[in-house]
Amino acid sequence: MPYAPSTVNQEQSRANEGPEAVRAAVGRARDAAPAWDALGHRERGARLLRWRRVMARRMDEIVALLESEAGKVRADALVELAAAFEHLGWAARHAGPVLRRRTVRSGPLMFHQRSTVEYRPYGVVGVIGPWNYPVHTPLGSVSYALAAGNAVVLKPSEHTPGTGRWLAETFAEAVPDMPVLGVVTGDGGTGAALCGAGVDKVAFTGSPGTGARVLAACAPSLTPVLLELGGKDALVVAGDADVEAAVEAALWGGCANAGQSCAGIERVYVAEGVYERFLDRITLRAPEITGGPGGDYGRMTVPAQLDVVRRHIDDALARGARAVVGGPGSVVPPYVTGPVVLADVPEDADAVREETFGPVLVVNRVRDAEEGVARANASAYGLGGAVFARRGGVRLAREMRTGMVSVNDALAFTAVGALPFGGRGRSGFGRIHGADGLREFAAPQAVTRRRFAPPLAIQTFARGPRDLARFERLLRRRGY
Ligand code: NAD
Repeated sequence: MPYAPSTVNQEQSRANEGPEAVRAAVGRARDAAPAWDALGHRERGARLLRWRRVMARRMDEIVALLESEAGKVRADALVELAAAFEHLGWAARHAGPVLRRRTVRSGPLMFHQRSTVEYRPYGVVGVIGPWNYPVHTPLGSVSYALAAGNAVVLKPSEHTPGTGRWLAETFAEAVPDMPVLGVVTGDGGTGAALCGAGVDKVAFTGSPGTGARVLAACAPSLTPVLLELGGKDALVVAGDADVEAAVEAALWGGCANAGQSCAGIERVYVAEGVYERFLDRITLRAPEITGGPGGDYGRMTVPAQLDVVRRHIDDALARGARAVVGGPGSVVPPYVTGPVVLADVPEDADAVREETFGPVLVVNRVRDAEEGVARANASAYGLGGAVFARRGGVRLAREMRTGMVSVNDALAFTAVGALPFGGRGRSGFGRIHGADGLREFAAPQAVTRRRFAPPLAIQTFARGPRDLARFERLLRRRGY
């Protein structure tokens, strides 16, 4: 049943806000930013935790919005909210320890100086979000940017505008005197307007193609950009792995949220010693999982994504792959009715090379885990990944060319507040979450304060030839 919360203005949510409205929102955020910064970390953290309490109290509303706007089942909505709340709390509590001014050693050349470093907010951060995790993903930037002392203007996906409005509305309830979280709604045009509205940083989450356009739009003004883009994550199963656990993790990592997870498992490379066992097991287990009303996962949020899923399945089968579970018939708009498992898929197939973003798993045989890691790394993407091995799992994880890896689990890193999240290669750059995520939204500022005159002053034109000669002797004696 569609959900129409009385407090969120649906008409306004759907409007495409133009450059003028976007500039006005950025202006309001800029006016509010200094007072937010002046609060200091402790007071800001207290307000962010208050915001979390308001969201938790009004959780039924947001669960209903996630169901109606994004087509999620309740379980996926709850998992998303739990991760979002965890990160908001982590950012609120750790901004002080991570970002506050600290003294560093000045070293032998500058021992007469006191040196400090501090992380100062940029000012106004523009956040552009996707539709697949419309709370968790934007909040990965919003929570950390706010905690670092910035004001934020959020442009949610045009497919989930009500969720974006709800975030701003609950923030305003928790922090009524400081309008530091503004929302502008609309499609790509509104996002482009935000890039050109004089914000001090842009945090973008979405597809690589749009990410490149955002980067280009921000280039003339040299506005810094954080890009969280797509993925083609692989799960590698070693010969000594717990096969049953690996199957369970592959299915959950690949099919939760209807497979619409940037770091979802899309490829599985299984060592030949356990390949048949893995296929037997997944062939039995996958049909027990269903997508659709009352099922384990919901609809595809955007109809166009169904076309991508169908094209990838068709292309793989045309190239000689086998559909061991499901197939083209599983695509019944707006659902993919159950996991689709494709075996022996050529490595140049679309389903191996491009992001599918649906509940489709490619399962391919490799000689051993090392070859599995090499195939995983052959992707242009480099977001996350997983390794299943009884021994040497962490060693294999370190060989993965990705931003995150789970050993003997899938996607475990997404809900750990202290861990950074972000990609390499076509998956983008920059980090949300953890200490790196806080620093992403703050500019380091180095300050030295001269404490006394040094006995040997060289960085001045007042130095004499004798000073310079002594300095040179000292330099030579250091024996670098
Ligand atoms: P998308 O690129 O189509 O859109 C993302 C956002 O960009 C939307 O809000 C859209 O309105 C806006 N936009 C479109 N054109 C724009 C432009 N020219 N300038 C500025 N903004 C513009 O992506 P999507 O389909 O909404 O999301 C799915 C993608 O997001 C997938 O590729 C997925 O992997 C990725 N994703 C990545 C992460 C991550 O953290 N790495 C998380 C979630 C989703």
